[in-house]
Amino acid sequence: MAKKKRVALVGGGPTAVYTLKNLLQKADGLHVTIFEAGKVAGCGIPYSDEFNTPDMMANITSVEIPPVMTSLADWVRSADRRWLSKFGVRRDKVSDRDYYPRVLLGAYYVDQLEQMIRTAAPWHQVDVKTETRVLDIIPDGKGFELTIANKEGKSSRRFNAVVLATGHLIEPTTSRASSRLYRSPYPVGNLELARDEAADPGIFAESHRRSRGAGWAIRRLRRRG
Ligand SMILES: Cc1cc2nc3c(=O)[nH]c(=O)nc-3n(C[C@H](O)[C@H](O)[C@H](O)COP(=O)(O)OP(=O)(O)OC[C@H]3O[C@@H](n4cnc5c(N)ncnc54)[C@H](O)[C@@H]3O)c2cc1C
Repeated sequence: MAKKKRVALVGGGPTAVYTLKNLLQKADGLHVTIFEAGKVAGCGIPYSDEFNTPDMMANITSVEIPPVMTSLADWVRSADRRWLSKFGVRRDKVSDRDYYPRVLLGAYYVDQLEQMIRTAAPWHQVDVKTETRVLDIIPDGKGFELTIANKEGKSSRRFNAVVLATGHLIEPTTSRASSRLYRSPYPVGNLELARDEAADPGIFAESHRRSRGAGWAIRRLRRRG
């Protein structure tokens, strides 16, 4: 039997989930290893409950999210009713055009990743290494040597191919002593720091294409007086 090609996915967020979906459609056997620095693989950073509260909404509707195994709307329709009520979501009211909390979207990706691995064709092998950070990648013409760090310490692993799916760089929480400007509301604890200050927080910029822009946000804050 031919040796399985070894593929490393560095980062275990939504990009890794969709990449894995495509890799698992290959007829040749692959041994895929997902390295995720965080505790949970699948949700990435913007949709994890470590960085969000349940009331923080995603800015895309379920119909805009490409289905992994199931569409997001169908997944919500079959989710536990009591768990959904924590987000104020009712199964009988679910529509393809709904916006959902980021944490719920994260739970969808975590579940879909698990399902995909469980149902992968027998000629593939998928390993997920959480709390494991890739520190370095060295190509040598024949493959790649990855330096990884986890609770056991540092070690090296060789792969035939590497996919970088490391997403955004989230800045560490800005300390109150250093500045009154918070470069990011993530993790959400940053907003708690802002609340201690005398002034209301203002929004200077937004990263998304559908954002109405800083001018709109500032005018709105002014109107609220
Ligand atoms: C604050 C914020 C909010 C967003 N909200 C939305 C939204 O509402 N709607 C929308 O469409 N898009 C949103 N986005 C865009 C969003 O980034 C993507 O939708 C999605 O998260 C991209 O997934 P990803 O897997 O590429 O990156 P990420 O979700 O960032 O996942 C990358 C993963 O890689 C891991 N990682 C990073 N470096 C290493 C390493 N060296 N070793 C091992 N693991 C590593 C991280 O821990 C993380 O889990 C948002 C982005 C940000 C920053």
